[in-house]
Amino acid sequence: MANNGGWCGRGFKPRTFPKHSPLICYNKPASAQVDQKVYDDKRFAALSGELVETLVVPKRTARTWTMLAGDLCRVTVCEGSQVGDVNLWNLENTKEHFYSGKTRQLHSTHLKVYDRLWSNLPYLRPMATFVHDSLASYGIDEDGGSLHDVIGTRCDDYTYKLITGKDRIGSCHSSLTKAVVEERGMSEQDVHDVWNIFMCTGFTRDTQQYFCKPSPARKGDYIEFIADMNLLVALSACPQGDVSITVGEEVPADVCHPLKVEVFRQKL
Ligand SMILES: [Zn+2]
Repeated sequence: MANNGGWCGRGFKPRTFPKHSPLICYNKPASAQVDQKVYDDKRFAALSGELVETLVVPKRTARTWTMLAGDLCRVTVCEGSQVGDVNLWNLENTKEHFYSGKTRQLHSTHLKVYDRLWSNLPYLRPMATFVHDSLASYGIDEDGGSLHDVIGTRCDDYTYKLITGKDRIGSCHSSLTKAVVEERGMSEQDVHDVWNIFMCTGFTRDTQQYFCKPSPARKGDYIEFIADMNLLVALSACPQGDVSITVGEEVPADVCHPLKVEVFRQKL
């Protein structure tokens, strides 16, 4: 008689499972594979156009800005190593926002140049396309770590309290909330899972736990993305700074830095 576990530990035989090679779950739709030349041309057109917005997100805070379809946004590590958490909304309908989970399934856990950032259901449209990364050569390291993930959610004070038992206001979630409430009249519920730019993360091979490493980003590093629709964007300069300190421990001020944002627009 087949016996997978025995009864109360008696007659136990380890169960065996057939082996299969991994299958990539999702066939990439055509719309997830951009024509690289088209996006290189859009990048060139925007960068040789006008600089329409420059702002600095001060350390441990968040700011918002808008982009028109076709605009290019460059986010630069302008002082010292620093990670950022990005939220995106359709400028005309903020119910449509970035969907990190589906972006992860359509592309990968860590976004690479020419990957796209997708919106939530029922919309499921490309909101933006990643077009340049000064850190692209980091690749995937020996632990499976890589940059710019769509795995993590965002640091928040509720989880901080679960871990430490202490109350605190000082997280990407609270910074993004403050920015969208004060600058856009939106609410905490509008803040969603983020694109973690400049952050080095992965999953441990033995226990499949989320890990991070200090960001390899240095002053002058930058990423660029092009808006595929009119966008409202929010960026938090994470209060974890370069993420060299684990969540729950005190983060010294000298590991936190601002991030610079520039938006370029093609001249018509
Ligand atoms: Zn954070």
